[in-house]
Amino acid sequence: MLNKQKGNMYDFVTHTWNAIKGICPHDCSYCYMKSFPQKAMRLDEQEFKTDLGQDNFIFVGSSIDMFAVDVPDEWIGCVLAHCRKFDNTYLFQSKYPVRFNRFLTDFPQHVILATTIETNRDLHMISNAPCAENRVDGIATPILAQYEKMITIEPIMDFDLDELVALIQEVKPNWVNIGADSKHHNLPEPSYEKVMRLKERLEIFTTVKLKSNLERLRN
Ligand code: SF4
Repeated sequence: MLNKQKGNMYDFVTHTWNAIKGICPHDCSYCYMKSFPQKAMRLDEQEFKTDLGQDNFIFVGSSIDMFAVDVPDEWIGCVLAHCRKFDNTYLFQSKYPVRFNRFLTDFPQHVILATTIETNRDLHMISNAPCAENRVDGIATPILAQYEKMITIEPIMDFDLDELVALIQEVKPNWVNIGADSKHHNLPEPSYEKVMRLKERLEIFTTVKLKSNLERLRN
């Protein structure tokens, strides 16, 4: 099913579509999907009847990291093949972006590649996903130089300013999204002022889009 974008999703995305479903192997403690009952990871072949329309901006894999290491290549190939049938812009976002490299000839024509960098600091108590440095290495590779890229710093966690800026600069993203934890997961968060300092530094080399949920950090 093609879902209209709603809630606290990116405002530039018009729809989400998920053909790979179930428990995400990255198991991030803050994952919004944990508030829904989850089954084992699977490919839902019924989804390949979905008309993805045209001129949409579709976040594919919004409910699970479809490039996580445990997802079979064939499943990803089927999802990308269905996307190629429809003239849309597709957002593919992964915390294991080194895997994008295997699908370069399978991607549809209009693609934004993205990864999440919540902080430069250690995340192993919060997620099974690869560390920030690994994600940056994966998406900053010259093989992906021709693609538009987004970094999302969401949910933002407390960080070291110089180190985080350096990591993001390495990616040369077209834009950076910054958002806060919307569901009160008790994450270590920076002050609003510190987020503004980060924004200023990032704006020297890229565009920064702030989510309204950062307002909570003012308190
Ligand atoms: S990678 Fe995304 S979908 Fe997977 S557990 Fe983390 S937040 Fe949830």
